[in-house]
Amino acid sequence: MFLVLKRKILIISLCILILLVSVISVTAVKVSSTPKANYTIVIDAGHGGIDPGCEGNLENSNERILNLEYAKTLKSYLTLYGFHVVMTRINTDGLYSALATNKKKDDMQKRKEIIEKSNADLVISIHMNSYSLKSVRGAQAFYNPENEISKNLANSIQEQFLKDLPKAKKTSSVGDYYILNCTNIPAVIIECGFLSNYEEEKLLLSSEYKDKVCYSILCGVLKYLN
Ligand SMILES: [Zn+2]
Repeated sequence: MFLVLKRKILIISLCILILLVSVISVTAVKVSSTPKANYTIVIDAGHGGIDPGCEGNLENSNERILNLEYAKTLKSYLTLYGFHVVMTRINTDGLYSALATNKKKDDMQKRKEIIEKSNADLVISIHMNSYSLKSVRGAQAFYNPENEISKNLANSIQEQFLKDLPKAKKTSSVGDYYILNCTNIPAVIIECGFLSNYEEEKLLLSSEYKDKVCYSILCGVLKYLN
């Protein structure tokens, strides 16, 4: 009996050791494959100011605020991996000027100007989704079908979502949005999940899940570039 127990403990210890070694080697591969110092990525936190985006039912369940928090976390990951990051906004205000008659149009125009001035290699626009049917959920990347890089990057991020996130959409999707179409710089829109779905809303509001989504986006970008 004692011998059997000893053998069991030995086998479990070996399994833990193998697991640890594999985790360390995966991390090592990722760290060594990041020569991205000259690579600029614009992170666009969607909405802001008078445009709150979509809203959920829980406290602080507001797209304007969540997009910014996710954008900041993504920035910290990308910076850690050597990318140069430009943010379109760093607070909850919109980008429009106070005097603009069409503030939404002015806001989007300002985002385009920042993207073009940055001479970026990629644009990642962060959003939260919402739908009338409450059961609908899942993170999804959107791309411009006219832009091969946009499509491939969205597919790479979506594949990573499928590995990392519960109920992520099976495929990325074509999107006809200003931020995808306003410049030739390849862009993707990341809809991190649905605030209209109660389970996903709770996840999206937790900092653990925010880290998970942002790390997944980072891995999708790294995989695409490698
Ligand atoms: Zn949005």
